[in-house]
Amino acid sequence: MPKYEFMCESCKKSFEAVLTAAERAAGKIACPICGGRKVTPQMAIFSAKTSRKS
Ligand SMILES: [Zn+2]
Repeated sequence: MPKYEFMCESCKKSFEAVLTAAERAAGKIACPICGGRKVTPQMAIFSAKTSRKS
């Protein structure tokens, strides 16, 4: 499944989530840090910036 990166509008933290297109379309994503539902999808993590990669 594709991995997506989201930015939480509430706590301004980015997080990664693996979810299906249907789940993503349904807006079933919430911030794992603060539980906020207002998240902005970022670019899919395929060739995106990898500065945080450990
Ligand atoms: Zn948050």
